[in-house]
This record gives sequence, C-alpha cells and structure tokens, in this order.
Amino acid sequence: MGNPTPDKMFMDNPPEQPKEKVDLSPKVYEPVEQPIDAHVDSPVGNVVDLPSKGLLGYPASITHREIMAGDEEILKSSTNKNFSRTVNKVLKSICNNAEFFDDMYVGDRDYVMIHIWANTYDSEKEFEVKCRHCQHKDDMKIDIFRLDSIDPKDNMPSRLPMRVSKTGDTIKLRLVTVRDDNNAEEYMAKNPNAEVSTETLHYALAIEFGRPMSIAERIQYVHENITAKELATIREFHRHFSFGLDTSFEHTCSECQGVTRGNIPFLPEDIINPQVRTDLEQLLRSQ
Ligand SMILES: [Zn+2]
Repeated sequence: MGNPTPDKMFMDNPPEQPKEKVDLSPKVYEPVEQPIDAHVDSPVGNVVDLPSKGLLGYPASITHREIMAGDEEILKSSTNKNFSRTVNKVLKSICNNAEFFDDMYVGDRDYVMIHIWANTYDSEKEFEVKCRHCQHKDDMKIDIFRLDSIDPKDNMPSRLPMRVSKTGDTIKLRLVTVRDDNNAEEYMAKNPNAEVSTETLHYALAIEFGRPMSIAERIQYVHENITAKELATIREFHRHFSFGLDTSFEHTCSECQGVTRGNIPFLPEDIINPQVRTDLEQLLRSQ
C-alpha cells in the first residue's frame, strides 16, 4: 500500500462524532508538562522516526511494541470489507495506541507499517516485473531498508485554500489521514452501491468546508459543485505533496534491455502471511 492513495483501510472504536460526521478540526498536541519531581517513563519499545518530522502537528516519532501472535490472528480474520480498518486497528495497537494515530497522514502510516513488518519478518521482498516493451517477466528483489524516504516539501501548507468556482466557497485541502481512511472504508461497506471511487472519497474526506458535513453530503458536494478540472487540481495536491517511503522502482529487462518503471506492490499477503527465513536445521542442532 504505497503513496499517494492507498485504497484500503478502517475504523476502530466508535467515532467521537455522530455517525458520518467527520471531525476535521486540527488537533494540537501540546507536550504534557510534568512536575519537576515527576517520574517520567522512557518510551516503551522501539521508536520509528516519521517522515513528516513533526510538520503536521503531531509528534515526529512513534513507539511500537513487538507484533504478537494475537495481532496476526486479528489480521487473518479480516475481510475485504474491513481489511483497512483491521490493519489500522492492529497497527495502532502495536504502536501502543498512540493518541495521534488516527490523525496521522497515511504516508506516515504506511512508512511505520512497512518498517515494523520488515523488522519483524524479512526486509527483502521479491516480486515479478513484466517488461512494458516485450512482456518478458523477471523476478526482482528489493531490500525494504534500502528504499529511500521522500521528505515533505519545504513549502507544504498544512491547509491549501481553494476556491470552488460554482459556489464561490473557499474550501481547504489537507492530506488524507488514518481517520479518513477508516471512515471511507466504513462508508463503502455500509453503502456498497455508492457511486464514488475510494480515491475521490478520500479526497472528499480531506476537505475542510468550514461547517459540519456528513460523508454523503461531502460526496454530493464534490459531485455537483466541483468541476472535473478542479478535482484534477485536488488530485494533484495529494500527488505533489505526498511523501514517505519511495516505493518506485526502475527495472532493466533481461531480454530486451528495455526499462520498466513502477511501484513495488505491497499486498495483503505481505502483512497477513509474511515469510520469515529461519534456519530450522540450525534450530534443531541447537537443541
Ligand atoms: Zn523486455
């Protein structure tokens, strides 16, 4: 699930808002002041530095515990309809239920997930690349820890105002969060016939209208008031300012030497039944 538009995700505990109302107010995480003599616990477990580096109003790093067998069981019990919400819920738990988890940009979420999974299982990933010139298939192997991380752009606005020509409204665009992802999947599960793509739904949820809007009202607003050209601008906002793990690859075909570019596929199998290279013979010998 790479950037910029993961089309998967979830919804954990009951939302703070009535159903279908999405709280888009920016969250501010003030450091908690400790009395001078207070005992402060050091962070539990491992720390991952987030690609957003604190620029989006939440901390620059997140701690996590080890993935437990029970986490895997929950992931395996997920269905197509709740896969994203299940992954988000399990990952949030693994991240010690970080208070800011749902406000996190999905690019940060993907980075954390891939980082933790690569640390737990295998950082090498094999996949097949089909040459776009001659259709020849080659196997490609990458090491996740050697992928680059794309930094946020220096001029990234936390909100980008945009005027909607038809209504004269000024809406504000922001990046897609874990909460948007959860809400989008829940909405699609409850409204299987809704005529909206997951991509557009994510964008609609990541708009601040300056007034409370249900998800259905957001979709209707986008469909009826935003021109196709304006939607293209919104899509470009999300593409241009996306950041996190760079999953793009370039492959030279072993048959025709043609170059194929693409994005490394991260599939549900990568997190549900990952392989681990364990030398069982050595384990036996050590008994
Ligand atoms: Zn080729």
